[in-house]
Amino acid sequence: MGEFELIQRYFATAPCAQGGDGVVRGIGDDCALLAVSTGEQLAVSTDTLVAGVHFPAVCDPFLLGQRALAVSASDLAAMGATPVAFTLALTLDQADAVWLEAFAKGLQRMAAACTLALVGGDTTRGPLSMTLTVFGRVPAGQALTRSGAREGDLLCVGGQLGDAAGALPLVLGQHEAAAEISEPLLARYWSPMPQLALGQALRGQATAALDISDGLLADCGHIAKASGVALQIEAARIPLSAALCALIGHERALSCALSGGDDYRLAFTLPPERLSVIQADWPEVRMIGQVVAGRGVHLLDAAGQVIEAPHGGYQHF
Ligand code: ADP
Ligand code: MG
Repeated sequence: MGEFELIQRYFATAPCAQGGDGVVRGIGDDCALLAVSTGEQLAVSTDTLVAGVHFPAVCDPFLLGQRALAVSASDLAAMGATPVAFTLALTLDQADAVWLEAFAKGLQRMAAACTLALVGGDTTRGPLSMTLTVFGRVPAGQALTRSGAREGDLLCVGGQLGDAAGALPLVLGQHEAAAEISEPLLARYWSPMPQLALGQALRGQATAALDISDGLLADCGHIAKASGVALQIEAARIPLSAALCALIGHERALSCALSGGDDYRLAFTLPPERLSVIQADWPEVRMIGQVVAGRGVHLLDAAGQVIEAPHGGYQHF
């Protein structure tokens, strides 16, 4: 199968490549054309996933396709953008029809879930990797950024944390667990659902936001630095799933939430009076701390004391 046949068979004819809101021209020309309305801005984000670094070299291609797009779309959620389109630059060591078919199906599933249209890409030979670029639209000036957190705001997260990091030994086949424990955790690793609707609802509500991809502490550090504030996190308020705690115990589950990666849930700050409005529609949203004067991220125990060395003090397995 040649390059053009491959593109045609697996990508150009996929349902997600048949256009969408804001797509003037998709696959087939030298550029895709996206419509940008007056009063709106285009949100653009790109992510590369490399086999053996960001995902196991041998894995289910359907799950990989799903996950690759979810990871990228999560950046649109973090900015409060409405999804429009994405491109896929795919490097493959071989054109394996079975692999491509399953990969394209996984991609299609996530594209449909996120209402993202595939509008272009590139196909090359080499070690397996993929770069996805996502495009979203946002009313001018209303994108959520990392820099607006203010003293007195609450710090919130979009749901339970740590599951994907805790699932890693299961993903890598180093560990096995009963289905009722492994299934929800593996799902959180392979198909994190980008919190797109929550991100859009936070426009005009949240003062700062991002998606948690590198662990709660590291990512909150970005908000603290960009906003010129300190964030206090109450350890006991961090939402952990029953499956994760059953697998590795509460203490290591907390460690996964704090410094594991791959959550793709939103973390955001907002004035206290706005929390109940958001929680009415997103009951899984949890307040986990507050914004105070100072710098850095401080983890507090139940007595409100700073837990020393949250980075060094927690071990990842
Ligand atoms: P060019 O040589 O002008 O860069 P290509 O021959 O690489 O164009 O690609 C032909 C068309 O197919 C373009 O519209 C491109 O965006 C699209 N395309 C190439 N690879 C992919 C892919 N993996 N997924 C989706 N579209 C792709
Ligand atoms: Mg090309």
